[in-house]
Parts: sequence; structure tokens; C-alpha cells
Amino acid sequence: MFDYLIVGAGFAGSVLAERLARGSNKKVLLCDKRPHIGGNAYDNYNEAGILVHKYGPHIFHTNSREVFEYLSRFTEWRSYQHRVRASVDGQIVPIPINLDTINTLYGLSLTSFEVEEFYKKVAEPKERIKTSEDVVVSQVGRELYEKFFRNYTRKQWGLDPSELDSSVTSRIPTRTNRDDRYFTDTYQAMPLHGYTRMFENMLDHPNIKVLLNCDYREVEKDIPFREMVYTGPVDAYFDYRYGKLPYRSLEFKHETHNVGVYQSAPVINYPNEHLYTRVTEFKYLTGQEHSKTSIVYEFPQSEGDPYYPVPRKENATIYANYKALADSTPGVHFVGRLATYKYYNMDQIVAQALTVYSKMHSVKRKDALVMVSGLTRSGNGNGKAHHLPSPASQPTTQRQPITQT
Ligand code: FAD
Ligand code: UDP
Repeated sequence: MFDYLIVGAGFAGSVLAERLARGSNKKVLLCDKRPHIGGNAYDNYNEAGILVHKYGPHIFHTNSREVFEYLSRFTEWRSYQHRVRASVDGQIVPIPINLDTINTLYGLSLTSFEVEEFYKKVAEPKERIKTSEDVVVSQVGRELYEKFFRNYTRKQWGLDPSELDSSVTSRIPTRTNRDDRYFTDTYQAMPLHGYTRMFENMLDHPNIKVLLNCDYREVEKDIPFREMVYTGPVDAYFDYRYGKLPYRSLEFKHETHNVGVYQSAPVINYPNEHLYTRVTEFKYLTGQEHSKTSIVYEFPQSEGDPYYPVPRKENATIYANYKALADSTPGVHFVGRLATYKYYNMDQIVAQALTVYSKMHSVKRKDALVMVSGLTRSGNGNGKAHHLPSPASQPTTQRQPITQT
């Protein structure tokens, strides 16, 4: 008899499997219909021997020391600050829009102070910021909105920014300085040996059995378990009783080129050209050295594997019905990006899973991280304290692997 059947071996399912097994000595069966663990964060070495992300670029960043410390039990890190460029008007310029973006695009040499005035002049103030269009137009005006955001968003979501919640484009700031980092979080790093290795370490426990290539519906009747953690799409769980929740999908086109470097930045966005939104060159992210290089194109689709919940009012209304149903389904915990219909990053999913774990056991979040051996959180298995991972603003020294007990 398993204590838990966990559906989905992505961040949500794997963190809960780890905590329930190692933290609470529960017996867990973790199943995934895919042939691998890691969910959308899965990475692998391709035929050329280059580490690639099968489901598009995954860059880890967080402001949560707790989340970073927790994951640091299972991986060493490579300090990495992500940078993205956009192809606009025949030029490759920084996105988020910053001082250099404006100067390059318009052939100017404004200072930070002057660019602030520039934004003020072109911005269209809005009384209420309701949509993703309002967010951008109220900060940088219509022309820059059209160059950088309108068509990218239409491609990515199949919707105009005016039809999307403000939270979508709010992910991208506007800057008056020359900071060209995509994220400014305190912790920015890539798992040194990849995400899949980190997941393997997380799930390496005698209480955790992993079943791949397995839809939970094939086994839920035959394998006895006490409770379920479900991390798949919430509408699928309830057989689409209140209609289908839209999830945006992507087609990934992977290529390997016989050159050392393919493009001038880790990611190049193409708002206005091509059917794809962006091209990622993996070696920038992983730091791998190799004579060839691998890239991936992302082509947005309406049908296919569900990747993105679509943040807009209509969908929030449908989700509210499913949430009410989920809340009144005893013995099943709905966790993760698909099951809670939230456009969450990896760190937010880890935090969500840790919160669910602490609620299951009526313990405080900080105590949810205590290992079963009784070590305090971030204990390294040998009773000695280890140094905190350095914040992104400081050079990161490589940390010692943490021994599991
Ligand atoms: P998932 O990883 O989707 O895991 C759910 C798992 O459930 C899947 O493996 C699925 O196969 C399985 N499943 C579903 N139904 C069933 C079933 N019936 N039976 C068995 N198994 C089932 N976040 C960042 O922080 N940084 C990034 O740079 C970043 N980039 C991203 C790029 C792309 C293209 C995408 C799509 C997402 C990106 N994210 C990024 C978000 C990140 O992928 C998610 O936050 C995270 O992977 C969510 O984890 P999860 O466990 O909730 O879901
Ligand atoms: N976006 C855009 N142009 C860009 C980058 C982003 O219009 O060059 C918008 C687009 O709607 C996108 C959203 O901002 O979906 C969030 O971008 P992010 O890079 O965070 O998307 P993700 O990595 O989650 O796909």
C-alpha cells in the first residue's frame, strides 16, 4: 500500500515526493505519462553530446532563499545571469527595453535621466491598468509596444495583448539604465549538471518508486494508495465537466549546427518576423564547451501538450469552478502550474509544493524543510553547516555537493 500516488514528475510532483518520503517517511508512487522525470524542466544530452532542454529554455531564478537552499540539497550550481535580445527594425537590441535599446533603435545618445523623459513623452497614461496592452503602452507608448510586444504576444498566445491579463507583460520591466539582464532576482543559477540530474537526486530514496510512460488512470484502480497528489491539467482530472480550460502549447524545433557559436545572445526574440517567437542557444545557459552548438525554435500552438495557462478573466472564471470542485475532492491535492492554472515559474512551483506539504502535515513552512534525520533545513547530512549560496550579484563559488542521508 502506498501512502501517496503522485501524478506528474515535474517540480510540483517531485518536491512533494521528496518531502513526503524523506521528510515524513511516507511511501510514494510517482507516475508520469512521459518517458522521463523532470516535467517541462527535463534536460538531456542530444546525439551530439550537447545538454539541451527538451521543452524550451529553463533558467532558474528566485528571490526566495528558502527555495534556493532547498534545491541546493540536490544540486551544485553554475552562476548564470540570463540575457535576451530582440530582433527589431533589422537590429538586435536588448529586451527588457533599456537605455541601450532606445539609443540603438533611434540612433540617440541619451543618458538615463534623458531616457526617463523620453518614456514620459511617449507613454500614454492609463487610469487603470487592466490588460497586457495597458501595461506596456502606459510605460513606453504605442510605438515601442508595437515594435516589441504586440506581435510577439499575438504569436505566443493567439490573442491580442488587450485580451490578456496585465500579469503577462508585467513580467517584463522597462529600464532607464543599461542593465540588460532578463531577471534581477537575488539567486540566478543553473543546476551544474542539469535539471534531470537534480531531479534524480531528489527522487533517490527507498520510499519513492517511479513509474514512467504511465497515465495515472491506467493504475489508479489497481494500485492501492491512501491519497493522491495531482499535478496534471485540472480540467482533465474532472473530465472537462465545466468545459476545456485553454492551455497554450508550443512546438519545439531542435537543431544542431556545426559551428561553435550560432547567435550573438543566449536567446533572441523575434516579435515581428517568422512563425517562431524565439531561438535559444543552449551552451550559453549551460556553459558547456563543445565544437558544435544546439538551438531550439519555439512555435506557439493552440493544440498540443499543455504548457501555459492563459491568464484572462474568462479563464479565471472557468478555473474558479474547477477550484471549487478540487477543494471539495477529499484525498486529492492539486498542485503545480497545470493543476492550479497559474502562470508560475519553477521557483514559485517549488514554493507552492512546500506550502502544500506543510499544510498536509500542519507544520510551519520553515519546518517543512526539516529532514527526517532531524537536521535543520539546509543541513548537509554530515552535521556541519555549509555556506549559503551566494546571491546573484556576487560571484558564486562552486559549492560542495550535499550528501544525502
Ligand atoms: P510540469 O513540469 O508540467 O509537470 C507536470 C507533469 O505531469 C508532466 O510531466 C506531465 O507529463 C504529467 N502528467 C500530466 N497528466 C498526467 C497523467 N494523466 N498521468 C501521468 N502524468 C501526467 N520557469 C522558470 O522558472 N524559468 C524559465 O526559464 C522557464 N522557462 C519555461 C519555458 C517554457 C517553454 C515553458 C513551457 C515553461 C517554462 N518555465 C520556466 C515554467 C516551468 O516549466 C514550470 O514552472 C514548471 O515546470 C512547472 O512544474 P509542474 O510540476 O507544475 O508542471
Ligand atoms: N513579451 C513580448 N515580447 C518580448 C518578450 C515578452 O511581447 O520580446 C511578452 C509576451 O506576451 C510573453 C510575455 O511578455 O508571453 C512574458 O515573457 P516571458 O519571456 O516571461 O515568457 P516565457 O519565458 O514565460 O515564455
